[in-house]
Amino acid sequence: MNGSSDASPQTSSAFDVVVVGAGASGLMCAIHAGRRGLKVLVLEKGPKPGLKILVSGGGRCNFTNMWAEPTDHYLSANERFCISAMRRYSPWDFIDMVNAHGIAYHEKKLGQLFCDHSAQDIVDMLLAEAADAGVTVRLKHEVSRIQPISGGYQLSVSTGNKDQAGQTQAFKSPSVVLASGGLSLPKIASDLAFRTADALQMAVVPPCPALVPLTWNNSDRELLANLTGVAIDCEVTSRGQTFRENLLFTHRGLSGPAILQASSYWAEGESLSINLLPDLQLPVWLQEQQSQRPRAQLSTVLKTVLPNRLVDAMAGQWFDDLSLADLSTDQRLQLASQLGQWAFKPGGTEGYRTAEVTLGGISTDEFSSKTFEARRYPRLFAIGEALDVTGWLGGYNFQWAWASGYCCAQHL
Ligand SMILES: Cc1cc2nc3c(=O)[nH]c(=O)nc-3n(C[C@H](O)[C@H](O)[C@H](O)COP(=O)(O)OP(=O)(O)OC[C@H]3O[C@@H](n4cnc5c(N)ncnc54)[C@H](O)[C@@H]3O)c2cc1C
Repeated sequence: MNGSSDASPQTSSAFDVVVVGAGASGLMCAIHAGRRGLKVLVLEKGPKPGLKILVSGGGRCNFTNMWAEPTDHYLSANERFCISAMRRYSPWDFIDMVNAHGIAYHEKKLGQLFCDHSAQDIVDMLLAEAADAGVTVRLKHEVSRIQPISGGYQLSVSTGNKDQAGQTQAFKSPSVVLASGGLSLPKIASDLAFRTADALQMAVVPPCPALVPLTWNNSDRELLANLTGVAIDCEVTSRGQTFRENLLFTHRGLSGPAILQASSYWAEGESLSINLLPDLQLPVWLQEQQSQRPRAQLSTVLKTVLPNRLVDAMAGQWFDDLSLADLSTDQRLQLASQLGQWAFKPGGTEGYRTAEVTLGGISTDEFSSKTFEARRYPRLFAIGEALDVTGWLGGYNFQWAWASGYCCAQHL
């Protein structure tokens, strides 16, 4: 069944390549392999293709970033691995496809492109392209194992609905592309990439949740947990990487784009440095306020630049609420440092349930950055988030999925 979705069993090996996962990278790879004349079968465990695309960007899919730079916006044990593919398939190549399908989109900020209507537009586009390229997509086909055999690979696949007796079938294929993604959104994800790497004794960069909200430690929870909903434009620094964006207080901890970005650099036990007032030279500004408004209370002055609720929570804890005239130089400098370099030590992260991506993955040492073929397993390929390449927040992860999928397809 071309370019369509059904759940009927298929055991023969009538395909040149099996792509595991009908997500962003898998569909992209399948489309371009199909366009090259290959017979492509995509096996997807879920009931729908592109489920992560559908929930992305708040349902509007931040499908790329116009300014994606392989050397600036990606984390990996080998930060050079993504350069080749990102140069060969740029954001503008994907934008061309979006334009060709007449999909309306807009730049939200910082080069981030979102659909005007719905992420469904992107999934529909990919499925239309897949149909046009003669790709077969089978849903509710979960691959549990990929084994090398003579002349290719054998995949163990379970099919069927939960309410039916599921069947396990063996598919054979000369080439296999592992496009099963990372561990975020556990309801959709699977650990197939990690299990396959283990079974084939491939190196893995240990995974952890990234682009993820950070949780309170006990003392901050007591002081700040009732600030849920307060948002503030600030600068967050983790391991020397600084992000200037919104920070959001939640009942579990800190979230918002600045925190999500910094979370990818944060490691357990470390502190983040948060500048709550990045536009002010705090020691200078406080001194100016002191001479201009000596009778004003400190909290009154701080409320001109910070949310009232935040100042109320801090008063008495982070500073004594004196009149400015009574503030000593030491107290002024201490407050400037507290507000400008708040050392926030998270208790942890919210985990894969709310993480957008997985940091880590199968080591890129195991694969060619040009072809995406495994160095020790000919005709086995891996693309997208299954590999140890993680983008920043802002459309960078989809751009990696499109680029790796496209480039892999050129070598199948
Ligand atoms: C809530 C959320 C919002 C996001 N928003 C954005 C955004 O706006 N912009 C952005 O750039 N990135 C965003 N991301 C990240 C982005 O979705 C991923 O980086 C991207 O989808 C990775 O593409 P992939 O093809 O590697 O994996 P996926 O798109 O996750 O696709 C993997 C597919 O493989 C299937 N699969 C898994 N295991 C098996 C198996 N054993 N057998 C068969 N099929 C299997 C899965 O069901 C899935 O369909 C978001 C992620 C989340 C969780």
